[in-house]
Amino acid sequence: MSADPSENAVHDLRVSNGCTVCGGDTAMRVGPSGAWAYCPRCHRLSRPLLLPTPDGPRLGELAAAA
Ligand SMILES: [Zn+2]
Repeated sequence: MSADPSENAVHDLRVSNGCTVCGGDTAMRVGPSGAWAYCPRCHRLSRPLLLPTPDGPRLGELAAAA
């Protein structure tokens, strides 16, 4: 793993259909402390995982341990 200097910056992203509840567009802020996602449609605030894929970043969520 190589350190990326841009990791110290905060990025605002918009993820289409990123909400796992209502499927709405999600506003996402990614910073050094992690990622936050907010859905303006259902007002859900979550801490998703940003999963890099060949098609671009996708949202995943930490699965709750059963
Ligand atoms: Zn939503």
